[in-house]
Amino acid sequence: MSKIQMKTPLVEMDGDEMTRVIWQMIKDILLTPYIDLKTEYYDLGLVHRNETDDKVTFDSAEATKKYGVAVKCATITPNAARMPEYNLKEMWKSPNGTIRAILDGTVFRTPILVKGITPYIPTWTQPITIARHAYGDVYKNVEMRVKKGSKAELVCTDENGNESRETIYDFSDGDGIIQGLHNRDDSIASFARACFNYALDMKKDIWFATKDTISKKYDHRFKDIFQEIFDAEYKEKFDAAGIEYFYTLIDDAVARVIRSNGGYIWACKNYDGDVMSDMVATAYGSLAMMTSVLVSPDGIYEYEAAHGTVQRHYYKHLKGEETSTNSVATLFAWTGALRKRGELDDLPELMSFADKLEQATIGTIEDGIMTGDLYLLSSLENKKKVNTEEFLRAVDEKLKTLL
Ligand code: NAP
Ligand code: MG
Repeated sequence: MSKIQMKTPLVEMDGDEMTRVIWQMIKDILLTPYIDLKTEYYDLGLVHRNETDDKVTFDSAEATKKYGVAVKCATITPNAARMPEYNLKEMWKSPNGTIRAILDGTVFRTPILVKGITPYIPTWTQPITIARHAYGDVYKNVEMRVKKGSKAELVCTDENGNESRETIYDFSDGDGIIQGLHNRDDSIASFARACFNYALDMKKDIWFATKDTISKKYDHRFKDIFQEIFDAEYKEKFDAAGIEYFYTLIDDAVARVIRSNGGYIWACKNYDGDVMSDMVATAYGSLAMMTSVLVSPDGIYEYEAAHGTVQRHYYKHLKGEETSTNSVATLFAWTGALRKRGELDDLPELMSFADKLEQATIGTIEDGIMTGDLYLLSSLENKKKVNTEEFLRAVDEKLKTLL
C-alpha cells in the first residue's frame, strides 16, 4: 500500500513527560506507516525551551502563522518544583499562553463521546464545545482592601486629561473591598470572529451569554460587538450553512444547557468559561477524552489535548513500571490537524484517513478495549484494561480493517 502524500507541512510541537512518550508512539504506530508525514518540528519540551531561552516557543507560533495548522503535545508550565528538576535558567511562561497571545486565539474544548461512558447528565448525547474568551475581566484585575471612611471612585482620564468619575461606594460605615476590571473592544471582536468562524467550520449553532441586564455597559458591550459582527459579516453564511447564533442571559443559558442534548458551541466570557469548562468536562466523564483547539480570528488552527503531561504516570514509566495512560485526546489532536491540513490542501485522502483513525479509536473503546481511566468509568460488560502501547496497537488493528 502506498503512503498518503502531504503537500504543506504541519507545525509539530513536541512536549513533555508521559505525553511526549505517547506522541512518539502515535507517530510510530498509527501515522508514519500510513502517511508520508511532513512536519516542521519544534521541540517544546522543557529541556529545549530552557536551552533556547524559550525562543523555540515563539518560533513555533510564528511557523503556525505561516503554515496555518499546528499540532501540539502537552507541555510543562514550570513552577518552583521544576526549577531544580530541570535546572532551569528562568521560570519560563506557559507555552500555551505565549502561543495564544501571538495567534490572538480562542480555545475551543470538545469532549469525545463513546458508548459505555454515560455523561453525568445522561441527556447530553452530543458534545458541548466550550469557547472561553481568554483575555481580561477578573484575570487582569486590580483590587484593593479599603478602610472605613474611604470613598472609592472609578476615574478615567482621556488623552486630553479630562476626567470622568463615578462613585463606586462610600465606605463611611466600615471596611471593604473593591476591584477594577477591563476589556478591549478589539479582543472581544477577535473572540467573536473566532467563535463565528469555528461555528461555520463545525456546522454547529453557537450560543453566547452575558449578564447584560445587570451590567448595562460592560457586559452589554460584549453583546453589542457580537451582534454587530454577526449581522455585518456572518449572518448570510450562517443562513446558508443552516446554523444559528443564539444570544441569551447567562442564567438562562445555564438552565438551557442542562436541559439540552448538546451538539452546539457555547461561547463564554473569561470567568464563565473557566468555571463552565470544568463543569462540562467533569460531566462528560474524563479529562483524558477532551480535545482542545486554538482558533485565531484569521483562521489559523492549533490542535491539542486538554489535559497536561500526566506527570504521575511518567514517573512510573521512568521506574520501568507499566502505565495505562489514555492517548485518545492526543490522537484526536493529530487527526484534527491532519483533517484540517487535508481540507486546506485539498487532500481528500488525508481527510478520510483522519476520519477512519478516529472511527478506529472510538470503535476500539466500544469493543471494550480501553486504558485504566476509562475502565473505571465504562459500563460495558466485556471491558478489558490494556496498557498505553497495547491500546494504540489495538487501534491499529481496527484501523487496518477500515482502510
Ligand atoms: P494532568 O497532566 O492533566 O494530569 C492530572 C491527572 O489527571 C493525572 O495524574 C491522571 O490521574 C489524570 N489524567 C490526565 N490525563 C490523563 C490521560 N491522558 N490518561 C490517564 N489519566 C489522565 O495535570 P497535572 O498533573 O496537574 O499537570 C502535569 C503537568 O502538565 C504540569 O506541569 C502542567 O503545567 C502541565 N499542563 C499542561 C497543559 C498543556 O500543555 N495544555 C495543560 C495542563 C497542565 P491519575 O494520576 O489519578 O491517573
Ligand atoms: Mg477552570
